[in-house]
Amino acid sequence: MKFSFYAIDLKKKIPLRISRGLKSGSRNLFLKIRDGAYSAWGESSPGKTEGAESPEMMQNQLEDFISQGIKDNSIYELYEKSREMGIAPCAYASLDMALWDLISKKANMPLYRYLGLPKPNKPTSITIGISSKEAVKQRISSLLNDNLFNSLKIKLGSSNGIDADKEMFSEIYKNIKDKKINVRVDANGGWNVNQSIEMINWLSKKGVEYVEQPLKEGMENDLKYVFKKRKLPIYLDESCRFSSQIPEWAEFVDGVNLKLMKCGGITEGIRILNVAKAYGLKTMIGCMSESSISIAASASISGIIDYIDLDSHYNLNPDPAIGVDLINGITSISEKPGHGAQLKKEFYAS
Ligand SMILES: [Mg+2]
Repeated sequence: MKFSFYAIDLKKKIPLRISRGLKSGSRNLFLKIRDGAYSAWGESSPGKTEGAESPEMMQNQLEDFISQGIKDNSIYELYEKSREMGIAPCAYASLDMALWDLISKKANMPLYRYLGLPKPNKPTSITIGISSKEAVKQRISSLLNDNLFNSLKIKLGSSNGIDADKEMFSEIYKNIKDKKINVRVDANGGWNVNQSIEMINWLSKKGVEYVEQPLKEGMENDLKYVFKKRKLPIYLDESCRFSSQIPEWAEFVDGVNLKLMKCGGITEGIRILNVAKAYGLKTMIGCMSESSISIAASASISGIIDYIDLDSHYNLNPDPAIGVDLINGITSISEKPGHGAQLKKEFYAS
């Protein structure tokens, strides 16, 4: 097996502001595995909160891991070993998804089918970051014009407080309330207990489906106060990285949001889905700043997930990868063997 790494800058068409700050792009690490006639692809998006802040850091960790030998272990064993070695999940995600890509290519099957899963079948939401009234008005009108999406995920938790959140949401609501559009809200931990209760109550009257991560990561003990009075389902995102965390908070939430960069790839992603279902929770899949490669890997397991938020690649200029299509609002994958995505030739020297 030959491993090649490529660090590439991803630039967002529209910078995304969430409660913790503004993001206009990322420098991601791409991994290509060559094994005989097969090529397999993975992607890692770094993050301060994800344990590795740069492609260099992620590549060092992965080279260290690979140098110990990976040939004699199953994908499941390798994942466990990566956790024992303290490899950042966002770094390990590229290796995990590339190994799944490789194994399903060798079996000559699309990855979703190799895993025994249905095809992606639910529309993705498209994310609208925290923005001014004017900016949000323009964004909504261009989205409505394009008519490509029927679900929106609105980022709230503004540093200017819940009045600013209500003002922004009202501007959006005014424009979409008569249309068949699903609306979800993500506070990214921007509210305290009282604000969460008030906002969830307020949003429940505006046709919102659910609210994600009302309280900051680390405040999970306070979830019970919000949960008791909640008027909408509550999903955990930042507070739930691994399947092992689900039992502790299952009693106080309605669902969890998995991301390959948070958990370290498809192997743990599937375990999250299984544990969440065992605890009667709904599931959701999201993304960080990712191109079509990581999105294709995520979409490969999305057929059994309740809510889909796989949209970061639509906001890239350019997306350095190919392999994902938008069909009837669904982030769809090909019928080619593997997850079906790869870097475009011009972005790497083969
Ligand atoms: Mg979220």
